[in-house]
Amino acid sequence: MKTYRIAAIPGDGIGTEVVAAGVEVLEALAARCGSFSFAFDHFDWGGEYYKKHGVMMPDDGRERIRHHDAILFGSAGHPDIPDHITLWGLRLAICQPFDQYANVRPTRVLPGITSPLRAVSGKELDWVIVRENSEGEYAGVGGRVHRGLPLEAATDVSILTRGGVERIMRFAFRLAQSRPRKLLTVVTKSNAQRHAMVLWDEVAAGIAREFPDVTWDKMLVDAMTMRMVLRPESIDTVVATNLHADILSDLAAALAGSLGIAPTANLNPEREFPSMFEPIHGSAFDIMGKGIANPVGTFWSAVMLLEHLGEGAAAARLMRAIERVTAEPRWHTPDLGGKATTAEVTRATIEAIAAAND
Ligand code: NAD
Ligand code: MN
Repeated sequence: MKTYRIAAIPGDGIGTEVVAAGVEVLEALAARCGSFSFAFDHFDWGGEYYKKHGVMMPDDGRERIRHHDAILFGSAGHPDIPDHITLWGLRLAICQPFDQYANVRPTRVLPGITSPLRAVSGKELDWVIVRENSEGEYAGVGGRVHRGLPLEAATDVSILTRGGVERIMRFAFRLAQSRPRKLLTVVTKSNAQRHAMVLWDEVAAGIAREFPDVTWDKMLVDAMTMRMVLRPESIDTVVATNLHADILSDLAAALAGSLGIAPTANLNPEREFPSMFEPIHGSAFDIMGKGIANPVGTFWSAVMLLEHLGEGAAAARLMRAIERVTAEPRWHTPDLGGKATTAEVTRATIEAIAAAND
């Protein structure tokens, strides 16, 4: 029997609550399927670790997870530590060196969940946003000089490379091609940003010629926010830069009902390094420790993890269980207007996995 080694990195805040729930559900799923198992290694990296050791993860941290089959991540973000330290010290310290350049974020309105968009259901809203996850605005290039003086200067330089844009465009076109509508929107801002974003557009047009069966269009990011709200049915697959997709995918999550539901995969498509799966939400300081975090975003991320491992049948089984649970308002956590706790939703999901005779 195949055993998958998974590195669980809960991080901070509700990350610890939802990852524990995700591990429970994955264990139950493996037991139900019977054809594979998981060996989880847990890493206590994050803000509390930082307070003790002055770093978010140990120096050899990446080496210790380098050969795992996948990473299940919670959230980086601690109330006592500046966000740029927690983010760069943990999440980006894994994503960037492991070259997880394709960040994939599906958005659907799950059964039983109401979108803030009137009359929109899973039929009208079924998107996948592909985020360039290795360069662009979050390349980490820049600096700060003359601190505290009136002439203090600071820069964050957005870097796009031809190779980096080509690989994300090819990934996005291929993904669009694999979906029934074969429809891709390339998000840009090449009217105002006349260097890197123009390269982005040119490369998109070039890669598009490799995929003649994919219909594609180009949209400025500001106009894209309007289109997401006013004409959601016109969208299928979307590709955008690191910053643009970061913002658009939070909007997408809200339009699908709650940030607590949305999943994401940080993929190294060449599989030279492990890929990382996580809910898109953060540490949620306002609700941490209350036991009411919605674990569905982590469960859906676990579905993506299973797909990545090639366990398509198990992934589909877990997704069906999630949808049976969201369909029932009694299993809605407060972010969805309900009263359920993390533990209750987790138990309901495990019961749905066990009860299914498919
Ligand atoms: P957040 O996602 O933590 O919270 C935003 C709002 O959504 C809050 O009101 C929160 O209660 C709610 N929410 C989020 N997830 C929920 C869930 N599963 N169930 C119910 N409600 C949920 O974003 P924020 O407040 O901007 O950030 C808090 C901290 O998390 C910061 O330190 C930030 O840097 C960090 N963060 C980390 C990641 C990551 O590691 N991927 C992502 C976003 C934010
Ligand atoms: Mn974000």
